Amino acid sequence: MIQLIRGFKDILPGEVEVWQYIESVARGLFEDFGFKEIRIPIMEKTELFARSIGEDTDIVEKEMYTFPDRKGDLITLRPEATASICRSYIQHKMYADDPVKKFYTIGPMFRRERPQKGRYRQFYQINAEIFGVASPLADVELIFLLKNLFSRLSTGDVEAHINSLGCPECRPVFKAALTEYISSRTDALCSDCVRRKDRNPLRVLDCKVPACREAMEDAPSIIDHLCPACAQHFDVVRASLDSLGVPFVVNKRLVRGLDYYTRTTFEIQTRSLGAQSAVAGGGRYDGLVKMLGGPDMPATGFAIGFDRLAEVAGLDNQDFIRKPDLYIAALDEESGAMAFEWLCALGTQGIQATMDFEGRSLKSQMKRAGRNEARFTLIVGEDERKKGLAILRNMKTREQVTVPLDNLVERMKPLIQY
Ligand code: AMP
Repeated sequence: MIQLIRGFKDILPGEVEVWQYIESVARGLFEDFGFKEIRIPIMEKTELFARSIGEDTDIVEKEMYTFPDRKGDLITLRPEATASICRSYIQHKMYADDPVKKFYTIGPMFRRERPQKGRYRQFYQINAEIFGVASPLADVELIFLLKNLFSRLSTGDVEAHINSLGCPECRPVFKAALTEYISSRTDALCSDCVRRKDRNPLRVLDCKVPACREAMEDAPSIIDHLCPACAQHFDVVRASLDSLGVPFVVNKRLVRGLDYYTRTTFEIQTRSLGAQSAVAGGGRYDGLVKMLGGPDMPATGFAIGFDRLAEVAGLDNQDFIRKPDLYIAALDEESGAMAFEWLCALGTQGIQATMDFEGRSLKSQMKRAGRNEARFTLIVGEDERKKGLAILRNMKTREQVTVPLDNLVERMKPLIQY
């Protein structure tokens, strides 16, 4: 039997209803905040991700699904959405009329990570991005949005972590201090960290290896190295979150896995997911649009891990799964033909009906109606047809009424609608 690819998964009916609900709540909230949906391709030229995410990152170094297409061009299944949204913003000159644009997108991402609970090779993200706003209030808006979305979905137990990564002005000073600190601890670090310490020391702060975490315990904090403009930006973020009543913790280790971030970075973490504690992450990436060939344009955004959100959301899928309104138990062929016409007519009028096409016995059809959790069953066989009636049974109260066959659909509608 052919099984699915390791790290990939099916989202089955029953689970899908929860996903659809989350998606509708997210869409509603984004639209209320003026975000427009954008849909971007699943594949892009490899170069786009390599340049934007950064050559020294885990994603680019070892996780991308990259392959030559039939002409030999290197293409990659998108590991994240921000780079593509930037590419699209630049390519379609969306900055030309009004550079301020707010987008959201929902879809699958691909990273060849080691699969485990909450970590997949195809996973889904809900992304939101704001272009053209340098103000820290755009960062705050995103964090506020996340908090609202999460509480609408009853996720409980989530915590916003924030940090600042500075800017090209102050980060080099911090990097130098960090590199110096790391150099004094190389013995304790994993080989990845030792290799990266010169080119990308921030990544060492982010390493999940316990020995590295311990060795970095007293590492210098970027917040102590921010230039006045970045420090002020971060002050405003904190003050506005406070005044909006959004709780947060400042987490100096939060450097995130992608190179393009500047200033504010944030993550929403939960304790209920074990090792994979981040449900959403994001931050400001003021240099990225320019780096990809567009104008110098500030931008900020986030990505929510949909799979993880579906897991921590306090939703009972039973509330979302739609059950048939009606099961039609047709007991002979002629009744079956009539039943099929009713089923089609009801379906177009928003009433979900189902029936048995195999002409099984009444007993087995009633069982099936029960298994399908249909609210009503309509029984029609030769006897009923002779009388010009069908029997409508309320499966919960077990009450039965007769309904004339003549114009049955119209007659039945008021009886079975909520
Ligand atoms: P990132 O794009 O790495 O900032 O990730 C944003 C969010 O996507 C994370 O907080 C996770 O919730 C989710 N995520 C990232 N990688 C995976 C993965 N391999 N499987 C499931 N969710 C993921």
